Amino acid sequence: MNCLEVHRDIGVHEVADRRGNAFQLDERAFHANVEQVRRLLPPGTKIYQCAKGDGYGVGVERIVCLGVRAGVDGFCLGTPEEALRAKCVAAGRPVLLFAGCDPAALGEMVEAGIIVSISSVEGCEALLRSGATGDVFFKLDCGFRRYGLNEPDLRTVLARVRRQSSVRCIGAYSHFGSRADEIVDGGLPLFDRLTRLIEDAVQRPIETMVASSTLILQRPGLGHSAVDPGRLLYGMMAAGPEMPPFQPIVPRISSRLLQVTPFDEARLLTVGYADKTAIPAGGATGVFPLGWIDGLSAHRGFGEVLIRGTRLSVVARTLQHSIVNLSGLSDVRVGDEVVLVGAQGDEQIGLEAMASAQGMSVTEAHFRLLAAIAAGVPNGRQHG
Ligand SMILES: *Cc1c(COP(=O)(O)O)cnc(C)c1O
Repeated sequence: MNCLEVHRDIGVHEVADRRGNAFQLDERAFHANVEQVRRLLPPGTKIYQCAKGDGYGVGVERIVCLGVRAGVDGFCLGTPEEALRAKCVAAGRPVLLFAGCDPAALGEMVEAGIIVSISSVEGCEALLRSGATGDVFFKLDCGFRRYGLNEPDLRTVLARVRRQSSVRCIGAYSHFGSRADEIVDGGLPLFDRLTRLIEDAVQRPIETMVASSTLILQRPGLGHSAVDPGRLLYGMMAAGPEMPPFQPIVPRISSRLLQVTPFDEARLLTVGYADKTAIPAGGATGVFPLGWIDGLSAHRGFGEVLIRGTRLSVVARTLQHSIVNLSGLSDVRVGDEVVLVGAQGDEQIGLEAMASAQGMSVTEAHFRLLAAIAAGVPNGRQHG
């Protein structure tokens, strides 16, 4: 089975676990975001879709299949395991494993057809010792002092690589995580100088890639051969001024009420609650199956949800569950939909509002909450 056969229609797919939780995946939004990124960039710039963190929570296979169908040029993954999973569904497109692999495992990855990152002299030596044959990218340190080859390390690695023919450098990248102009202005010329060093050594052009989402928005005209965005493609970032918005690819996150408990007399609830919670006579509480292990806040500021078109407060949260105050709501039943993100009736909660009400960023909410739901999907690695 390949991605193109799974869903013929480019539409909205539901990803549901067996607890009662689900999110919607809007493939049209993803296609629109890819097109918008393409329009921002010089023609011919390749898009390497970043799918780390289990596909930003959505699931590696699912998110890579969206990319294959939208025609992106390659994929970037965060862990060896993710890279191997992506390779199975990437339909022959390049799969790059970012820095973060045990040097001892690099040979096995290269043999599996994964393009690995060389970010240290030791990594390079371990790969050459393994005897594996294949392609690598160099990760360059452009002044951030995190991962990557600085100039002396790069010269050492180039000298090693030049003496053999089994490992080929086909690209170089760096990650400008910061928006600060002085960091970008200092790092870009260094990146360009180091990539020229590599091209002089290997005697052919290589792929050059520095722009993730932030830099694409700030400086779309940089003109390197490839970009590696994640958040922009998934609609997790605001667009620049006078730009159409990027659309969230996950427009709805929902759960279901698994328990409804009416109270004949007024009660002050304490067990499992951060504070005492007063429920009036005739009131009720409900339980839905998402807790702090699923990435929601463990502390007060539990957020709000929509049930039957009404905005309600979550009053307590345990490891696996959340408890919502249903007082004032009539005719509420087990099985009713609980909307964490999305619209119901006339009410609406956006991902940003949901996350900030719980002291999280949009990024944290995306990676953790979606991953928790995706982990429980039957045949979870299918693209459904
Ligand atoms: C995460 C990451 C990206 C993508 O970042 P976004 O902000 O989601 O676009 C690109 N490159 C590297 C090295 C990364 O770690």
